[in-house]
Amino acid sequence: MTTPTLPEREAAQAATLPVITHWIDGRVDGTAPSQTQAVYNPATGHVIARVARGGADDVDRAVSAARAAFPAWRDLPLISRSQIFFAYRELVWRHREELASLITRDHGKTLPDALSEVLRGLETIEYACGLPVHLAGMNTPNVSTKVDTLTLRQPLGVAAGITPFNFPAMVPMWIYPIALACGNTFIWKPSSHTPGAAQLQAELWAEAGLPDGVFNVVYGGREAVDAMLVHPGIDAIGFVGSTAVGRHVHETGTRAGKRVAAYTGAKNAMVVLPDADLDLAADAAVAAGYGSAGERCMAITLVIAVGDVGDRIRPLVEERIGKLRVGPGMEPGMDMGPIYSREHRSSIVEWIDRGVADGATLVADGRPFVHPEYPDGFYLGVTLFDDVTPEMAIYQEEIFGPVLGMVRVATYDQALALVNGHKYANGTAIFTTDGGAARRFQLEVDVPMIGVNVPIPVPAGYLSFGGAKDSAFADLQMRGEDGIRFYTKQKEVTVRWPEPGRRGPLSLVFPGNA
Ligand code: NAD
Repeated sequence: MTTPTLPEREAAQAATLPVITHWIDGRVDGTAPSQTQAVYNPATGHVIARVARGGADDVDRAVSAARAAFPAWRDLPLISRSQIFFAYRELVWRHREELASLITRDHGKTLPDALSEVLRGLETIEYACGLPVHLAGMNTPNVSTKVDTLTLRQPLGVAAGITPFNFPAMVPMWIYPIALACGNTFIWKPSSHTPGAAQLQAELWAEAGLPDGVFNVVYGGREAVDAMLVHPGIDAIGFVGSTAVGRHVHETGTRAGKRVAAYTGAKNAMVVLPDADLDLAADAAVAAGYGSAGERCMAITLVIAVGDVGDRIRPLVEERIGKLRVGPGMEPGMDMGPIYSREHRSSIVEWIDRGVADGATLVADGRPFVHPEYPDGFYLGVTLFDDVTPEMAIYQEEIFGPVLGMVRVATYDQALALVNGHKYANGTAIFTTDGGAARRFQLEVDVPMIGVNVPIPVPAGYLSFGGAKDSAFADLQMRGEDGIRFYTKQKEVTVRWPEPGRRGPLSLVFPGNA
């Protein structure tokens, strides 16, 4: 008897697999999905579920539910809205380990890393609990005689959030709490690779007492997204994902008259100066380069070594990567799990081939790694390149895998010019013991999120977050004060209450001050 091939085994499993489908109007959607796609456990390479692949009809049903729910949600007293957020916050906290397990199962990252993303997402939910304060407007008395101006912040209507595979809880938790807190209703299009945590988040909202239709989930890919971008019932779109898709989302959505903010790809560099604590810098490069298998938009992918740093730091990095344990994210003690999909694993291998062909020095090669127990799992070992130069494709493009490149330059000014010349601008870091050099870097570097001896400078969940250049197509950052601005429209109301019996003469002058 011949051993069945992988596609044959997957086809045989398909009949008995659970199907995850849309969440519309406060419940699992009753309409059977016309199309589904496989969900993999990347640690084993096995299909574990199927997920609906939605299209225009499904988006339309979700928009109808969200539009119907909008007036009552908008008009709910702020304190009642806030109480639902407190309840949701408690539920996410109570279910944090379950959420983390679902993330690890679908994505592959280690369980402690998954738990940490849930906790970081929770910070933004906690920020949103204070919504009555965040939504306070302004009253400017006496702008003219007996005239005051009120500044109001009101919701936009229906907001959509389109999110990537790599943070199935944290990134959506950076978007929907703010949109909902502002009084919008919401449709979430999560990545189809990681639907488990999405479904649990929808169930927890229902348990928290969120009215039906306020929070909806539509699964799918391009068809669902394209339907959202032009749907007249959607007012705003928050997107997080790759640069190519983000550009398309921004261009199409804004052309259709929507407010759109898209946060996209990255290639983050850390500059290491000769006076730096090199043990700290080597720890940082390894943790930020290979954590979550490099599948983080704030991962460090380039180490820019200034002066003699290259020769001194390389052995420290090599020593550390030699000790990293790669295996299933559910297994205790693992440092790095598998890549999230088989296709993405192949694309990372192609990038490594390209780096070798372009002449970078391959110091550690992750390509041959096969997990002894799970040979079908989507594993890669860690890869380290030295002598990477700005002309190389592995310098210019996002790889989104466990591949770190070292670039050697002679001076601080050359390092700064490299960071500022890159087309991506999400995060960057400088490692130094010289406060003056660090201060200069903060002022001169053209990247919005900066770390000083901190390799992944993701601001806390109650602050704003966002990149520039090809890392964001947005006028504002997400979350925090910018998030509140994005999900509200501002009105200025000019009010006159003349004193009884005292009215000035008719005047055709504008602006008048009488
Ligand atoms: P992706 O662009 O492939 O997918 C993002 C979302 O868009 C998903 O919901 C997906 O279903 C949908 N989508 C995919 N292809 C589409 C298409 N052709 N048309 C319309 N919609 C489409 O991104 P990904 O692979 O899920 O995530 C990784 C990317 O996300 C990386 O580039 C990473 O840097 C970026 N990212 C950025 C940030 C940030 O804050 N800047 C945060 C996390 C991830």
